[in-house]
Amino acid sequence: MTAEIIDGKAIAQALRHEVARRVQALQAARGVTPGLAVVLVGEDPASEVYVRNKGAQTREAGMASFEHKLPATATQAEVLAIVARLNTDANVHGILVQLPLPPQIDAAAVLRAIDPDKDVDGFHPINVGRLVIGEPCLTPCTPTGCVLLAKTVTPKLAGLEAVVIGRSTIVGKPVAQLLLREDCTVTIAHSRTRDLPAVVRRADLIIAAAGRPLMVRGNWIKPGAIVIDVGINRVAADVAGKTRLVGDVAYDEALQVAGAITPVPGGVGPMTIACLLKNTVDAAERIRQSLAN
Ligand code: NAD
Repeated sequence: MTAEIIDGKAIAQALRHEVARRVQALQAARGVTPGLAVVLVGEDPASEVYVRNKGAQTREAGMASFEHKLPATATQAEVLAIVARLNTDANVHGILVQLPLPPQIDAAAVLRAIDPDKDVDGFHPINVGRLVIGEPCLTPCTPTGCVLLAKTVTPKLAGLEAVVIGRSTIVGKPVAQLLLREDCTVTIAHSRTRDLPAVVRRADLIIAAAGRPLMVRGNWIKPGAIVIDVGINRVAADVAGKTRLVGDVAYDEALQVAGAITPVPGGVGPMTIACLLKNTVDAAERIRQSLAN
């Protein structure tokens, strides 16, 4: 058996098109253009690429994109002042502060300062709490993308044994909460889990988010399981001096056993920005709705 390959690029593109349709509908019905503001502090090259891609995809979806760049020497007060201004700006429906922030800035304090209704990264403690108690909220982008990808294989995840490998606040914990909300039976495995292969073998759905290259072997996977590989690991390639990206799952082995699997790259990665755009249009619709009430 060879697994179905879950095409994250195509699924992300379809999601971006759906977002663009909702943006047009919001403009036509209410005269509102959803706006996403991104705050970038410093000159980290990877962050600059992310921010550029986010801006381009935001504009492609018909939304307004606002970029606020501050030097690496910016103070916490300066960053907080921008966040406060964006919180009250009626043209801004989503605010994202690009991480990592320089060491002089308290990232947790900055994330807490964002209006929870504009927190399109879903990292504000209010949104984390709403997710846990099952209230409507903005949910973190990569975990949301993982669930959407799994649902392209099986629209109803209810009752599945799901094993999440990793317990970070960015991926592992929120994806576990989202799967619980889908009525999966969820196990969270982590670096102290005893006998990880045995735990993973129980899973109908595996979310691998440990950041350990090719850790999950083919013989850990239950035949027919859905495998969502979040890991992005740069390793040495066969050609001297070159590198390549691999996931947390030994892809070639898993392909022979799993029912469906995401590749790396081209699986979870493209979903993250698409879900950010979805969160921004969700936020714009909700803010509009609450103003109308
Ligand atoms: P993290 O380092 O914060 O957390 C890793 C987690 O994995 C920890 O909870 C740890 O307990 C667990 N872990 C580590 N080694 C383990 C082991 N041997 N066995 C079991 N569990 C183990 O990482 P993160 O921020 O959650 O990211 C995880 C991976 O996902 C990374 O490769 C990262 O690059 C990738 N990532 C991808 C996207 C995307 O696709 N857009 C977004 C975020 C993170």
